[in-house]
Amino acid sequence: MPLNCFSSVYSVYSVVSLHPARYTSAMRIEFTFGQGRRVAREDLHLSVGARHVPVRLARNRRARRYVLRLAADGTARLTLPPGGTIAEAMDFARRNTAWLEKQLLMRETRLRGPEKWLDGTSILFRGDQVQLQFGLNGQANTVFFGTESVPVKDPAADLRTEIEWHLRNLAASELASRAWELARLHQAPITRVTVRNQRSRWGSCSRNGTISLNWRLIQTPAFVRDYIILHELAHLRQMNHSPAFWREVSRLCPDFSQAERWLKEHSGLLRR
Ligand SMILES: [Zn+2]
Repeated sequence: MPLNCFSSVYSVYSVVSLHPARYTSAMRIEFTFGQGRRVAREDLHLSVGARHVPVRLARNRRARRYVLRLAADGTARLTLPPGGTIAEAMDFARRNTAWLEKQLLMRETRLRGPEKWLDGTSILFRGDQVQLQFGLNGQANTVFFGTESVPVKDPAADLRTEIEWHLRNLAASELASRAWELARLHQAPITRVTVRNQRSRWGSCSRNGTISLNWRLIQTPAFVRDYIILHELAHLRQMNHSPAFWREVSRLCPDFSQAERWLKEHSGLLRR
């Protein structure tokens, strides 16, 4: 049973929660209740990851506990039961910012939908946004981006399948050779590297020394790609996500939190 890293978007939060300073929530303004059932809108926010989510409070005579919801307009709705206090309600909301963030990400993914890759579309390649440009290479219909050129059948069609196939092939050779290179450098006893199309994780590591990497690491900057490889190498010493494991990660990759931040900001990459 391989150890999965970032096995879902949820486990990413358990990773980043090791850096609580970046993910604390804060009540911006002290708030006083009006007389009515619904409380007037005030500048009350929760810090969720990098964003400030406005909070709207409502009292509900029938509520039995504090209830937190993500409303359709992107605000957090916080319901107070009779006798509930704003301070307690905000404590409750702050304890559940990870849940709120998960809802926000899921909603954004749903709204985005499947995206077509056409002439002029920007895609991420080695951490840069590059534009797909259609051209003729001799007689062959070709799409150019970054350093790459990919022959395509029908330039007016969705180019995504053909270009992703090209990226995947590129990833298969580049990621494997980089993994072997880093394993040699750090004397990590790997036995095999596979490059796969995982839906929900960047990498995994098994006890027998097989490392699996997500081909989409060809779309991330080099420091992020290296971090994921080093993260998996660290698992050869610690098959868990314990503090000892993270010490090993920071030994191999001192700037890993920067890579974590990039991955978090681009978490949509995996769920396409
Ligand atoms: Zn891991």
